Amino acid sequence: MRIARYEDKGRVRYGLADPESGKVREIAGVPFDRVEATGVARRLEEVRLLAPVVPGKIVAVGLNYRDHAREMGKKIPEEPLLFLKASSALNDPGGEIVYPSQSVRVDYEAELAVVIGRTAKNVKEKDAAAHILGYTCINDVTARDLQVKDVQYTRAKGFDTFAPLGPWIVTDFDPTEASVRCLVNGEIRQDGNTREMGASVFRLVEFISSVMTLFPGDVIATGTPPGVGSLRVGDVVTVEVGGIGALTNRVVAP
Ligand code: MG
Repeated sequence: MRIARYEDKGRVRYGLADPESGKVREIAGVPFDRVEATGVARRLEEVRLLAPVVPGKIVAVGLNYRDHAREMGKKIPEEPLLFLKASSALNDPGGEIVYPSQSVRVDYEAELAVVIGRTAKNVKEKDAAAHILGYTCINDVTARDLQVKDVQYTRAKGFDTFAPLGPWIVTDFDPTEASVRCLVNGEIRQDGNTREMGASVFRLVEFISSVMTLFPGDVIATGTPPGVGSLRVGDVVTVEVGGIGALTNRVVAP
């Protein structure tokens, strides 16, 4: 299933997207309990796709790709390095990323995002899959100069619009072998694969849920592959995860 969230005639709905037929079929309520079609369908171009979930929190992981850590001349941390990305930074597919006036260096970070489906507390790695609703793309947009200056990440990762998410949540997906790419103005900048992850998606659910309870709708940004670089005003940036789709945003002036 591809679970989308969208605005249809001023109302926010969840639905099942089917790019082949070009349609989205509305479902009743929220997709965490059960998914039941209402019988209403729209053409995808008639609706505006929104971030497919509104997370209570976005838990992000630093330096989780072996090849990216090598590129940075660092080692993968012994335990996953966690930080929080403000949920108010959430941005929609097609939404504008606002380049903050406080920064002169804003980077893209293409990442696989995990969407939690069932409350997870002290969940073991082998049981993690049952707590995951599905997967989508996230751009962990970062004001790199402020990350260095501040040492910790709250401001650098937390600006409004710095968490584009989407285009939809794919429920049947293998997170152990998926391409993760970033394109800027159509040019490939990152071209990685989740097989290079230090801590797997399931290990991340175990580790994070040993620290904090994960609730339905919470998002885990699982780290970025090599090739991180900067964005300029006017750039069009796309995060693509194989088997999920593409998340495209334009960078605009403050
Ligand atoms: Mg990141």
